[in-house]
Amino acid sequence: MSDAISAPPWRGALVSEPVAVRLPATLTEHLEGLQLRHFSPDEIIRACGGGEPPWHLWGNIVPTLIVADAAREAIGRPTKITSAWRSDEYNWQNGGKEYSQHPTFTALDLAVLVGSWKARAQRELQDLLASWRGRRFFSPVPFKRVEVDCVPFAPLDTCAGCYSFIFEGGIGRYPAPGWPKFFTHLDTRGIRADWGAR
Ligand SMILES: [Zn+2]
Repeated sequence: MSDAISAPPWRGALVSEPVAVRLPATLTEHLEGLQLRHFSPDEIIRACGGGEPPWHLWGNIVPTLIVADAAREAIGRPTKITSAWRSDEYNWQNGGKEYSQHPTFTALDLAVLVGSWKARAQRELQDLLASWRGRRFFSPVPFKRVEVDCVPFAPLDTCAGCYSFIFEGGIGRYPAPGWPKFFTHLDTRGIRADWGAR
């Protein structure tokens, strides 16, 4: 029997159906899909406080991780993620701000680890990130972001076809020497926000 005869008559209609996008089953799989050069899924998950972020927030962190990874590559210094997602409870208990971007999973705290040059290296990272706002970045995977109630959040200028986005967000400069208050906060809330001393 030839294929032409055995093919069901509705075959053509099925082929034209949209192809469903397969969602990653685990947070690790989601993070692996981003193909980051410097931050492993394990490091990112370990930096979460109060468990793992719920799956509907996983897309929120994609632009932040892509910008952080590119910045780490550009400054060429060992950099550690010290805080990523935080549950609301964990955020309150650990002195986080009420409208923090961490519980929405759009924020990362980054510490450059370079001994006595820490202050300078941290400033270098902060200045670089500030200079990158308004710049287009590309994601290797499609991502969808969701707003969380009461948290300042604006959509990024994205291009669905090529998974690109324009980086806009918050940069917090925490220059006080001594672990762990010595770090850079980065988020992609969609609007500019700056705080901390330079
Ligand atoms: Zn932060």
